Amino acid sequence: MSRFEVHQCQCAHCQQETSHPDQELHRQMNLLLSRLDEQQRRWYVAVEANRIGAGGDRLLAQITGLDEKTIQRGRQELAGELAQRPEQRVRLPGGGRPRAEKKTRS
Ligand SMILES: [Zn+2]
Repeated sequence: MSRFEVHQCQCAHCQQETSHPDQELHRQMNLLLSRLDEQQRRWYVAVEANRIGAGGDRLLAQITGLDEKTIQRGRQELAGELAQRPEQRVRLPGGGRPRAEKKTRS
């Protein structure tokens, strides 16, 4: 599976023929997730699962394709203030400041 492949939501609302507001939301969630790294994914999904409350883990597993255990791990890490996780900023090559244009003196 390619890193930037977007997961197709498997929830009931996205499986139905008629359109549902959740379909666009879930598509965007998965689009966002496709650009996050592994730990960011489980934290974001854990936050969404917490928002739903009961049954949230199972629903988010359907939506995102993440394992329920992974979501639970994300929740535990958030509960621990992410203290065990290194603070690393991933910067893509060329993602920095644009180079200042060289001005030619007249
Ligand atoms: Zn869905």
